Amino acid sequence: MQKRPPIIAVMGHVDHGKTTLLDHIRKTNVADREAGGITQAIGAYEIEHDGRKITFIDTPGHEAFSKMRAHGAKVADIAILVVAADDGVKPQTQDALKRIGEAGIPFVVAVNKIDKPNADVDKTKNDLANAGVLLEGYGGNVSWNAISAKNGEGVGDLLDLVLLAADVENPEWDPDATPSGVVLTSKSDPRRGNTVGVVIRNGVLEKGSPIATESASGKVKMLNNFLGKNEKSLEPSSPALILGFDTLPEVGEIFYAGGKAEELASEKKEEKVREARDPGALESEKKVPVVAKADDGGTLEVLEDLLERMREEYPIVVVSSGVGDIYENDVKMAESSGAIVVGFNVKTDKAAVNLAQTVHVPILSSKIIYELEKSVRDYAKKLSPDDIPALEVLAIFGEPKGKERVIGGKVLLGPVKNQSPFEVWRGDKQVGTGKILNLQSGREDVQEAQAEEEAGLLVECGEAIKKGDRLLFVEE
Ligand code: GDP
Repeated sequence: MQKRPPIIAVMGHVDHGKTTLLDHIRKTNVADREAGGITQAIGAYEIEHDGRKITFIDTPGHEAFSKMRAHGAKVADIAILVVAADDGVKPQTQDALKRIGEAGIPFVVAVNKIDKPNADVDKTKNDLANAGVLLEGYGGNVSWNAISAKNGEGVGDLLDLVLLAADVENPEWDPDATPSGVVLTSKSDPRRGNTVGVVIRNGVLEKGSPIATESASGKVKMLNNFLGKNEKSLEPSSPALILGFDTLPEVGEIFYAGGKAEELASEKKEEKVREARDPGALESEKKVPVVAKADDGGTLEVLEDLLERMREEYPIVVVSSGVGDIYENDVKMAESSGAIVVGFNVKTDKAAVNLAQTVHVPILSSKIIYELEKSVRDYAKKLSPDDIPALEVLAIFGEPKGKERVIGGKVLLGPVKNQSPFEVWRGDKQVGTGKILNLQSGREDVQEAQAEEEAGLLVECGEAIKKGDRLLFVEE
């Protein structure tokens, strides 16, 4: 076993200074100013302090942690809990403590914003004691330091504490182990293809090696270190950017390289063959990919938490998430991954609305989280409907007359009622709407058709319906 640098996650309540602290540490320790971009692509960076390496997960820990937890992965060895001295312990501070507890990792406390005139370090320590965190010199043994992430005061001492905690924790790796680690970012880049940011936790990751997660696989065609430099191999605790995944893995998944990756990939292939033979199985596991946008880090956390919670009911996969309004790029990203765009408290750019209409990408956006939850739920239900009357289109008869056409289909779930409005779905996209003008079963006019029945329909619909489309009869 060999020693490896500690991997650190920064956690705490929104606006308490996590991002500022991560930025400060990166800026003062990573000489290459251009590194910001690549760090963002990977989601982690590496520094040296006192001649020793430390890896930082470069997204505030909250969201990263919930994704890892969903996949049973562990990424950080040690957490820094940031508590603003002008605000004290807040709900997300407590939530962070809970997550740190669940992960079973040690943490150090950064009492932040001590440059502010209303900073009250004693009150913060007291708040922490009430939350069950007893600081060193205050009746307990949790190490802490007062800092200003803004001007850097105390940050060096904080890093000393991190290294001391690392000496106790003593993270190790096994040079003979299958290379593995955790996916931190997963994006499709129009120029470079799928770019996947990871942090390595065990084994030596080599260029050229097969690589796989539970949901995706490929080959390490290019391996970049956290400065964007090409590498032949990287060792544990290193952040890395990988090109060569055939499809995008999910953030928070564990990756494996080498033989284990080949095993995973072939299992995956068998599963695909099984699914292809049994389309029903595929249908019921239809993924709901989401491009998430919110107006700031706080609302994005709220949105991500919501999507995370909804995962228990629907197979939601967040393919990307970011801060800012919804632009054409988000729609393009959604289109390329068959996703919908979900926006919380953001505006949608006009060009994005137009593009979304052309390429049939749904944009679900609201300023009210409950409304958003409802629209995502409604959408997800339509993807794998088990309580929405639906009909599969088996044939199109003759030429359309204006907007009217005659189709034949099989009722998947009844009752399908005459005169009902419907939505036309092709794969995972809604492509149009229409209405039944006349319904026949066994060449007789009927008012309703039930499951498994074959029906002939005269419909009015703006979109050219195709064989294989599904008509969903959603109650207005
Ligand atoms: P996060 O939500 O925890 O990532 O918080 P941010 O890093 O985005 O910080 C929230 C706000 O607090 C920003 O306006 C920062 O400039 C400010 N801030 C963060 N750290 C400090 C600090 O040490 N001193 C002061 N005065 N402001 C800070």
